[in-house]
Amino acid sequence: MLSMRHLSKAYYTDTIKTQALQPFDLSIEQGEFVAVIGPSGSGKTTFLNITGLLENFCDGSYELDGVNVEKLSDKAKSKLRNEKIGFIFQSFNLIPELNIYDNVDMPLRYRKLSTKERHQRIMDALDKVGLGSRKNHYPSQLSGGQQQRVAIARAIAGKPSFLLADEPTGNLDSKMADGIMELLKEINAQGTSVVMVTHDPQQAAKAQRVIEIRDGVIIERSQCNKAIA
Ligand code: ADP
Ligand code: ADP
Repeated sequence: MLSMRHLSKAYYTDTIKTQALQPFDLSIEQGEFVAVIGPSGSGKTTFLNITGLLENFCDGSYELDGVNVEKLSDKAKSKLRNEKIGFIFQSFNLIPELNIYDNVDMPLRYRKLSTKERHQRIMDALDKVGLGSRKNHYPSQLSGGQQQRVAIARAIAGKPSFLLADEPTGNLDSKMADGIMELLKEINAQGTSVVMVTHDPQQAAKAQRVIEIRDGVIIERSQCNKAIA
């Protein structure tokens, strides 16, 4: 699980201070599916990047699976990120020069895994997203929905505790977007927590819990355990 206490974030450029996130408390339990909504510029990406240890915060504390994050060196933080967090982006962020197999292998290269174990994880992840037979294809040979599936395979191959997704369906038509949501829900049902930024109210409604950010203020919108439709 993760636990944030009195956490806040400001950006300073020249003499201008932007309070991107006002101090907040938030916990996310293992296995939750959380949607993060809010207008453009409200702080959603900042929140996701702090959660994923891509960005530092200003004040407060952050504990990720029992590890106190603010005391870690940058190197230890990278290691923790690599072990605990998988990322998915709106623009897929695949490496065009690498085939699907090697794209999924990328984050595994930084782990102490045997070649056999890596191969097993890559093929398991590709099979889970339904693209095992495409392992030798390059990203440009796949549709947008398929490319996002590869990005999801890359994110889950490391067996993360948290899957963080920034507008994962933002570049996809609604049919492909629904397919990606189905897949994220399947992965979530197998125990991985999912935190997903989205503009799409229909996709947000499929989450178990909705957090809204307005002008850097985090508001809990619902925490009912309604069945995920
Ligand atoms: P959202 O993802 O909801 O669109 P962001 O988290 O990207 O919002 O941005 C929140 C606020 O922080 C905005 O006012 C934005 O301009 C500001 N901001 C984001 N990143 C930076 C940065 N690197 N430097 C300065 N200001 C930033
Ligand atoms: P879509 O309806 O998804 O856009 P396409 O007609 O582009 O489908 O492609 C059909 C299938 O063929 C896709 O699933 C894609 O993976 C594969 N494909 C498309 N272009 C190439 C290519 N240049 N080389 C190999 N496979 C391709």
